[in-house]
Amino acid sequence: EAVTAALDAIEKKEKLVNSFVTVDREGALKRAKEVQKQIDDGTLTGPLAGVPVAIKDNMCTKDLLTTCSSKILYNFIPTYTAEAVLNLEKAGAVILGKTNMDEFAMGSTTETSAYGETKNPWNTEHVPGGSSGGSCAAVAAEECVFALGSDTGGSIRQPSSFCGVTGIKPTYGTVSRYGLIAYGSSLDQIGPVAKDVTDCATILEAIASYDTKDSTSVKREDYDFTSALVDDVAGMKIGIPRDYFGEGLDPEVKAAVLQAAEELKKKGAIVEEFDLSLVEYAIPAYYVIACAEASSNLARFDGVKYGYRTKEYEGLHNMYKKSRSEGFGSEVKRRIMLGSFVLSSGYYDAYYLKALRTKALIKQAFDKAFEKYDVILGPAAPTTAPKLGQSLSDPIKMYLGDIYTISVNLAGLPGISLPCGKDKNGLPIGLQLIGNCFEEKKIIRAAYAFE
Ligand code: GLN
Repeated sequence: EAVTAALDAIEKKEKLVNSFVTVDREGALKRAKEVQKQIDDGTLTGPLAGVPVAIKDNMCTKDLLTTCSSKILYNFIPTYTAEAVLNLEKAGAVILGKTNMDEFAMGSTTETSAYGETKNPWNTEHVPGGSSGGSCAAVAAEECVFALGSDTGGSIRQPSSFCGVTGIKPTYGTVSRYGLIAYGSSLDQIGPVAKDVTDCATILEAIASYDTKDSTSVKREDYDFTSALVDDVAGMKIGIPRDYFGEGLDPEVKAAVLQAAEELKKKGAIVEEFDLSLVEYAIPAYYVIACAEASSNLARFDGVKYGYRTKEYEGLHNMYKKSRSEGFGSEVKRRIMLGSFVLSSGYYDAYYLKALRTKALIKQAFDKAFEKYDVILGPAAPTTAPKLGQSLSDPIKMYLGDIYTISVNLAGLPGISLPCGKDKNGLPIGLQLIGNCFEEKKIIRAAYAFE
């Protein structure tokens, strides 16, 4: 019933919202029947059994189209399923389809998709954020119960904030990246998007696992995230970085986020301001590292083994060149060029190495902050969702919008974004809570107490 209801909602709302690249109606109904049978005969139990889920289109799903919202993968049908998705299937979740995203997860608005933009369900003249805009819009529009997104520099937290839903970016290494089509491999993490903290903790518990197929996977001592769902923040130390509340922050967002801090204080948390001035260098460092890794990761899309191949060409090199020129969109090309440049001999030390050093300093600054605080609190994004068509013309401005999320990826930390109010136009505002590595439970506890 839940799956049928979700499919009906998709049918009704997709024309308006466009959250999905692919809807697998038949597959979902078939799987729902199988799952129902297992539930009935008692072989399948647990909170996710029979729950309809949407998967971001950069996670491989066996026999189901996986495009990364790019023309270059317009016909790519994987032969295997990403580990995180497999974990969900084992828990009995039913995949409805694949959600729209910025092409190869590069962007903050879901407007760089080759399959059309996704719209914000709260106001369809506005963007849903990105790059996991399809996943967050699908949850907000109730086209699914929850979704998976990926976060390289904020792509779960920022669209969650714009769409008024809750999303977690786990500590790097917590969820396997096996089968996640790589953007910036040292930063990418898969995470849940859902209507509240309880659902997110439950999903994270299901998808997190140690996986030898991902060399950066970490064997954690404790995967019991739901045990942190307790309404108690008495004595918890919360740090507010002054640098997160300066220039560029919308006054309505600022007021709502500070109000959230006030509420946690009322519940017994100790709230204090502190300096985290290094974050100013996070954007340049991130865009150098992410583009460098992307330029290498995207080298495999050459028209030979899979994906788009140009129709007419003369010789192998011409085929590569034309397939890539025609297959990639302009934001992806910009980043491949930027990444190739910062890795080229003569510029490697000046840009790439410097960015890596900056990354290490940012990690140190967070380490120091977490000696004092349990959780860091701030906004997820400087504004609420902008109107469609406003961001792409000025990429630098778009990159600056990632200011509050990016350093979390550079330091490998967990972060959660959850709704904390609305602006005067009725668009959602997101609160971000950041934890130390492997301390998801603290941010889940604080978020649950606030919610
Ligand atoms: N907006 C950032 C970028 O364009 C983050 C994207 C992401 O997290 N995938 O790179």
